[in-house]
Amino acid sequence: MAERDGPDIPLEAFAARRRRVAETLESGHALVVATHTEATHSNDVHHRFRPHSDFWYLTGFAEPHSVLVLDGGSAQTHLFLDERDPKQEIWTGRRLGLDRAKDALGVDHVHAIDDLPGRLADVVGNQEVRTIAQHDPAMETRIKNALGRTDDGRPLLAEARCIKDAAEVEMMQAAADAAIQGHLAAFPNMRSGRNERHAEAAFLHAIRDAGSEGPGYPPIVGAGANGAVLHYIENNATIQSGELVLMDAGAEWGYYNSDITRTVPADGEWTGRQKDIYAVVLEAQDAAIQAVRPGNRFRDPHDAAVQVLTHGLVNLGLLDMDVDQAIADNAHQDVYMHGTSHYLGLDVHDPGRVKGDDGESRILEPGMALTVEPGLYFNPDFAPLPEGMEPLGIRIENDLVVTDDGCNDLTAALPRDPDALADLVTGK
Ligand code: CA
Repeated sequence: MAERDGPDIPLEAFAARRRRVAETLESGHALVVATHTEATHSNDVHHRFRPHSDFWYLTGFAEPHSVLVLDGGSAQTHLFLDERDPKQEIWTGRRLGLDRAKDALGVDHVHAIDDLPGRLADVVGNQEVRTIAQHDPAMETRIKNALGRTDDGRPLLAEARCIKDAAEVEMMQAAADAAIQGHLAAFPNMRSGRNERHAEAAFLHAIRDAGSEGPGYPPIVGAGANGAVLHYIENNATIQSGELVLMDAGAEWGYYNSDITRTVPADGEWTGRQKDIYAVVLEAQDAAIQAVRPGNRFRDPHDAAVQVLTHGLVNLGLLDMDVDQAIADNAHQDVYMHGTSHYLGLDVHDPGRVKGDDGESRILEPGMALTVEPGLYFNPDFAPLPEGMEPLGIRIENDLVVTDDGCNDLTAALPRDPDALADLVTGK
């Protein structure tokens, strides 16, 4: 890892994870995890390499062409990786190599990745195997050719990763802090005559400056009607006065993610109607955050948000129905068509079950990390606009970690109050 001011996951934590995951594997079972393959932008130009999240979670190793084997009985670890090759390294940078890997990563045994086809069966012996390699079909084929039938190991890692430890929460706080810097830098660009891309550029500059590897997903900057397109990433329209600007942008820190959305008025000037609708979304978010506590269900924040949104829509005359009937009919779905929460961690949409074995919504536990992101979207392409309504999108998204008695808001430092946001746009 490059030097920067901020937390990193200590080596011992990766070993502890391997031991913990090995314990959940039955004796006589092995887990085989491949990292990501390299991706090219075009011809011989590569994207910056990012290890596969499950692989990184267990190894802390960020080189391509590597496969981890975890023995469920003995908890012994084997790592297949590239040998050193000065002719390649002059192009792509230093490799760790087999000699250094044991000490540097704390694994028990190392092997050259080129030897995997002949070696893997010996390493695994006659154990049952679970594999995580679906993201690299070529490697998956090599593993299956060596071992025959294997089972899917992903659910095992999804459960392990669902509960974050203290070191992970520190990483996520650093990811949130970097993204907060990005949002603060972007706000002054949300003025009429500026382009959506100017806000994106300010965000990207600030997060790299803060030490983030970069955005965890393409930033969304949507002014006016663009804000009502959920995954709008063109970010190339000129901002007009009177529009709202929605920015959904997160940063990575040591491959951990943040995921933050704020919506502000262009030039810092809310119309009365916009501010009324914003207040409904803000109240919905507050109600949802209140519902993020251990013992509650995963869906409770969503239900709380839908209650407030529906009441607000009826009160503002944007939904011409009785409130109870509107809730029973899910009438909000024309203007609030997504869920309120997803897990967050090494992946922006982190794996983990949201339902229990009984098919009911899962109970929240300390250490779970999730977003709370209610919104309202008035998009005439999706549903007819209420009388006199202009196309717009409002979303407010914070990142929460469930604690023993409630939740910790990693993104609390970024204002949500409508007047505070207006001031951040105008620089007051
Ligand atoms: Ca988001």
